[in-house]
Amino acid sequence: MKYISTRGDATRRSFCEILLEGLAPDGGLYLPEQYPKVGAETLAKWRGLAYHELAFEILSLYIDDIPAADLRALVTQTYTMQVFGTRQIVPLRALEPGVYLEALSNGPTLAFKDMAMQLLGNLFEYELARRGQTLNILGATSGDTGSAAEYAMRGKTGVNVFMLSPFGRMSPFQQAQMFSLLDANIHNIAIEGVFDDCQDIVKAVSNDLDFKRKHRIGTVNSINWARLLAQVVYYFAGYFQATTKDDEQLTFAVPTGNFGNICAGHVARMMGLPIRQLVLATNENNVLDEFFQTGTYRVRAAAETRETSSPSMDISKASNFERFVFDLLGRDAERTRELFRSVTFTITPAEFARIPGYGFVSGSSTHADRLATIRDTFARFETIIDTHTADGLKVAREHLTAGVPTIVLETALPAKFAETIVEALGREPERPAAMRGIESLPKRCEVMAADAAAVKTFIEAHA
Ligand SMILES: *Cc1c(COP(=O)(O)O)cnc(C)c1O
Repeated sequence: MKYISTRGDATRRSFCEILLEGLAPDGGLYLPEQYPKVGAETLAKWRGLAYHELAFEILSLYIDDIPAADLRALVTQTYTMQVFGTRQIVPLRALEPGVYLEALSNGPTLAFKDMAMQLLGNLFEYELARRGQTLNILGATSGDTGSAAEYAMRGKTGVNVFMLSPFGRMSPFQQAQMFSLLDANIHNIAIEGVFDDCQDIVKAVSNDLDFKRKHRIGTVNSINWARLLAQVVYYFAGYFQATTKDDEQLTFAVPTGNFGNICAGHVARMMGLPIRQLVLATNENNVLDEFFQTGTYRVRAAAETRETSSPSMDISKASNFERFVFDLLGRDAERTRELFRSVTFTITPAEFARIPGYGFVSGSSTHADRLATIRDTFARFETIIDTHTADGLKVAREHLTAGVPTIVLETALPAKFAETIVEALGREPERPAAMRGIESLPKRCEVMAADAAAVKTFIEAHA
C-alpha cells in the first residue's frame, strides 16, 4: 500500500515514511492510493475477533513495511483491558431499541483521542528505535489532544513532548491531568496568553526550518494518517456489536470538530462496511454543517469562533476535511488544490449532488440542546452523557430511520466536563477511580511569556 497527497505531489510513500510526518510537502494530506475493499465474506471472518485482532487485520491492509509479527505485538500491547477498562475495549450500550452509544472514552484521559494516540505512542517508539532516531513533539492544546498525547508518550524511549497550553484557561481537572505527569520526557509549558498564542508559537518554531531539523521537531496533530487509521477499527467493532448479519446496514452519528473521527467513518464506508449514513454533528461552530447543507465551506476568523460547552469541537477550520473533499471530487488533486487555496469556497451543484452517495447528512446543536439532551438521557435511561456526545445524540435523533440501528460515538466521559453536567442535572458526574483526587497531586509545569524565542531556548535545554 502506498500513500499519495490530496494536492498531487508525485511521490508515492509507504506507511512508515508518512508516520512521523504532518502535511505532505505540497501542503496536502496523505491518503492511501486506494481503499482496500472488504466484502461480506471478510466481515464474517472478522465478526467475533477480539479488538486487538480486528485492529491487526485492518491495519495490515494499510501497513506493509512493519513485519506482521511486530505489528501484531504493537496492537496487542496497545488495546488491553488494563488501558481501556473493558474486554470489548469499545462496549456498546443500548439506550432505546435501535439507538446505541459506543464507548470510546475509557482510556487514560477519558476522551476518544486515546483510541488512536495510544497506538501512535507505540508506533512512534517502534519506528524511532528502528531508525536509531529521536523526536521532540511540539504541540498546542486547549485540553483533550495534549493530555492524550502526553499519556501516550510518557516514558517512551526516543520521544520528548513539549506541550503548550494557555495559562489558567484549562479546567482544574484538565490541568491536573496534564501537569501531574512527572515523567522526565513530558514537558508542560503554560503560556501567558490564549490558545491561539500557543498555536502561533508552534507555527513560528516549526517555520524555523534549521531549528526544526536540528532538534528533530515533530507533531501529533489530527491530520496524522496513523491516527485516522486507528480510528477506522472502532467503526467495524461497533458494527459487529450492533448487527447479527454481515450485510445489515447501520448509521453512525459523530460529534465533529476537525473532521478526524468522522473521516475514519468515511474510510470504513469506502472499504465496504455497510454504513447507511454518517451523521455529522457540530456545535454552534457549524462550519461543517453549513458545508453539508449548502456546499459552501467558509472558514471562520478566530474572533468568530465561539467558546462553547463542547469545547473540543470549537474549531474555525476543519483540518482533515480536505481528505473527504478529495474523494468527493473523484480524487482530482488539481481541483482540490484550487479549492483549498482560498479560505472560502463553494463546490458546483454537480459536485454537491454527489454527497448523498457518500452517506453524509448533518446538523448542529446549541448549549440549550446539550442541556436538554443530557437531562432527557438521564431521566429516561439513567445514563449521564458528556456535552460532545450530547451534540451527537441530538443530531442523531433528527436522522433516525426505522429498521436501521444508529450508533452515537461517545467521545468523552462526563467527568471531563463536570461544570455543564452540574448545570444540567444539579449533580456531579462520577469520576473513574484512577482520577479521584488528582487535583491534589504534585504538579510540574513551566509558566512562560508568549514568546517563541523563550520556548526554543527551553526546548534546546531539555531536548
Ligand atoms: C477531539 C474531540 C472531538 C472532535 O473530534 P474530531 O476528530 O476533531 O472531529 C469531539 N469530542 C471530543 C470530546 C473531542 O476530544
